[in-house]
Amino acid sequence: MNNRKENFYKAYREIHNLMEAQQVLEWDQQVMMPVKGNDQRAGSLSVLAKIAHEKMTSPSMEEVIREFESGADDDWDRANLREAKRFFDRQRKIPSALIAEKSRACAMAQSAWEKAKPASDFQAFLPSLDRVISITREIAALGNPEEPYDFLLDDYELGMTVRELDPLFESLKQRIREMVKKYSRTGSDADKVLGGTVPRDIQEKIGRFFLAEMGLDMEAGRLDVSAHPFTSGTMNDVRLTTRYREDFLPTSLFGVLHEGGHALYEQGLDPEHFRDPAGQACSLGIHESQSRFWENLIGRSRAFWGKYHPMILSETGGAFAGTTAEDFYRAVNSVRASFIRVEADEVTYNLHIILRYEIEKGLIRGEIRTADLPEIWNAKFSDLFGIEPPSHNLGVMQDVHWSVGLIGYFPTYSLGNLYSAQIARAMQKELGGLDELISAGRLTEVKNYMREKVHRHGKLFPPRDLIRMITGSPPSAEPFLEYLSCKYDPLFA
Ligand code: ZN
Repeated sequence: MNNRKENFYKAYREIHNLMEAQQVLEWDQQVMMPVKGNDQRAGSLSVLAKIAHEKMTSPSMEEVIREFESGADDDWDRANLREAKRFFDRQRKIPSALIAEKSRACAMAQSAWEKAKPASDFQAFLPSLDRVISITREIAALGNPEEPYDFLLDDYELGMTVRELDPLFESLKQRIREMVKKYSRTGSDADKVLGGTVPRDIQEKIGRFFLAEMGLDMEAGRLDVSAHPFTSGTMNDVRLTTRYREDFLPTSLFGVLHEGGHALYEQGLDPEHFRDPAGQACSLGIHESQSRFWENLIGRSRAFWGKYHPMILSETGGAFAGTTAEDFYRAVNSVRASFIRVEADEVTYNLHIILRYEIEKGLIRGEIRTADLPEIWNAKFSDLFGIEPPSHNLGVMQDVHWSVGLIGYFPTYSLGNLYSAQIARAMQKELGGLDELISAGRLTEVKNYMREKVHRHGKLFPPRDLIRMITGSPPSAEPFLEYLSCKYDPLFA
């Protein structure tokens, strides 16, 4: 290895090690830490974040990157250099005073949101939210002046633009609205079927069974409990969480399948490159394609319930006595307009994202004032769903994202759905029908396919190119819409 190369990789792996330490502390904060530990932990985390940021944007790092330009000699080197430069340029564009100001504003907005949300008090949340929005607008203005929202999008989904998203989401919106009308059932007996009581330890046993079926390496992973499920860590130390409701098994079951999909991605990165700028997961949209694939295309399929219903019946005593696999399949696929995004079914879910996308664009372009958010939210919500939230905590205040400055992030959730259906179509050409794979219990073949086609490439290719390589097409809504109608038409005919 030449010196320039060695310096580059050494510098980035040091930053990676720092960030891993940060992630373990964040995991600990949500899973293990006593409630009083918050302030102390915030202190440790902010010092680590500061050190990492200084290292990444220092003049010596600039030098290391510049020198590596003449030392990079293979595809990984060039991708690592490209990612390092992209990150460096982006960070340098944003004045450090603005970054500091944003993190202060977000800390205040988050605590204001936590206090104001239970009382649905938008006015109490408004001043600090408005501050976050106006700083985010300043940051967005550093990018493309024609479409400032692009600068935010690009941070989560490299290369994605409003110009590409608008038509994608517009076609999605039209068709999904029709589907919601067609498939919605009121008075469904889903809760009756799924509502058996299952003790937490049994739910955990079932969750661990599925992680093993998926092929997750639990000697390089952990399953724990947190209020909001998430996955963190990478490669040989991947930690996922779920939450348990004893009167509702699907919460933990689908949570584990979802986070298990994220965890498989992290374990499947290239072991030689996962600490380098281009060795990490491709994008948030691609990450979400993995979790959604396991949660919905597998976990909510008829084949899955045909295969695993007997096991669930026998593990849960009499909790679901008298139900059939078909009852479960129908119950976990009921479609209903509802207020809360994270509880939405896979059809209506995307409308929740489109709502947020349209509002965010308006906020960043300066077409929507923060103070008008509740009114705009409710009007758009009733237009999309035909119902109006009775309170702000079931409406505009439900998600944490805006208070922590995550603007431009929501679209990646729907992109994940679209990508998952595109990848499924390509996979089935190669491996045969997904239903047959599931019925035969050959889930590790799905894992291996994902590892080969998606995981190991990291950021070697931008998301759009990766999707094109796997599927032969650019990001598209059509396979997802076809997947939905093939599934739901016969269910609700
Ligand atoms: Zn996810």
